Amino acid sequence: MPTQSQVLDVLKTVRFPNLSRDIVSFGLVKGIEIKDGLVQVTIKVASRDPSIPDAIKQSIHEALAQLDGVRDVQVDLHWSQPETPAIHGGASSHAQSAPADEALLPGVKSKIAVASGKGGVGKSTVAAGLAIGLQRMGLSVGLVDFDIYGPSLPIIMGVNDRPKVQDDKIIPLEHDGLKLMSMGFLVEADTPMIWRGPMVHQATEQFLKDVHWGDLDVLVVDLPPGTGDAQLTLSQKVNLSGVVIVSTPQDLALADVRKGVAMFQKLDVPILGIVENMSGFTCPHCGQTTHIFGHDGAALVAQKLRVPLLGRVPLVPALVEASDRGQLYTAIENDPQLSEVFRSIAQTVSKTVAASSC
Ligand code: ADP
Repeated sequence: MPTQSQVLDVLKTVRFPNLSRDIVSFGLVKGIEIKDGLVQVTIKVASRDPSIPDAIKQSIHEALAQLDGVRDVQVDLHWSQPETPAIHGGASSHAQSAPADEALLPGVKSKIAVASGKGGVGKSTVAAGLAIGLQRMGLSVGLVDFDIYGPSLPIIMGVNDRPKVQDDKIIPLEHDGLKLMSMGFLVEADTPMIWRGPMVHQATEQFLKDVHWGDLDVLVVDLPPGTGDAQLTLSQKVNLSGVVIVSTPQDLALADVRKGVAMFQKLDVPILGIVENMSGFTCPHCGQTTHIFGHDGAALVAQKLRVPLLGRVPLVPALVEASDRGQLYTAIENDPQLSEVFRSIAQTVSKTVAASSC
């Protein structure tokens, strides 16, 4: 009989129709039950296009039929017209008018979200770089990883302790004075993250309520990729100072940036700007720069969307190994080019936030 994580792995290969993203990372999979070879999958999708739910259903049937031990597949699909801008960016009067809860994050002066249209573009890396840059400006900074499906903060920062609980509140961990919190600190590394129904909202809200950040100048929030539940919950519950959008210069990534920008604009979250990551690789031997993922893509999109281009982070192969070893912090600090780029991005972001809160 297949296991839940095998089924989840197969579902990760099912793409949302016409998009490069899969249905798991979009947060559409709300439940998986396996009994005597019968696999039941619960899917929740908001889309204006009525052909989307059928296409997803069929793709799930086709994909799971290939898995050993599957006798039958049942897809329980809940389809709604997008009242909220979940996937195609429809407006939501509820989302727009929902008041931010001032009781959440009481000691935190500014909350800056870092988002991306798709996964793997370096959002977590940029969130960490931004947090380090802000810290270097003398600010007290926290960094929280809201990617409940695949929290990477514990890995890239090399922090794996269990946070302490005091007076029913979780105390963030620390790395060189940077306060850190991640769902990855609370669950076992190999536990498959299967979130049902309102659990994403609940987990996100719980995370906001139950962590004792103390007094912070800035909290940098690393959001999951895409335009899903966590983004909506955060935008509705917290008075975000703004959002930084990360993209590579590739067209594919940039198409998703437009969606992300549109969603945050509809939610009235100020767009602080776009960071172009993996912007160019400078050969350490000959000094020549190659634009592996294209050139100026994010700059052009930023211009078109009339949002600032905050900076270009070069492709530095050593970052990959450093992140895998939990040494991202030191790698950024020790690379003059990277630390300068992140310092400059942090400065622009903090100026914009300060100006808008005057
Ligand atoms: P995301 O949060 O968007 O999924 P990550 O920050 O986890 O992306 O980065 C994905 C991978 O790309 C990681 O292996 C990371 O080390 C690598 N990476 C990110 N930014 C850079 C960069 N500027 N240069 C080289 N590698 C990078």
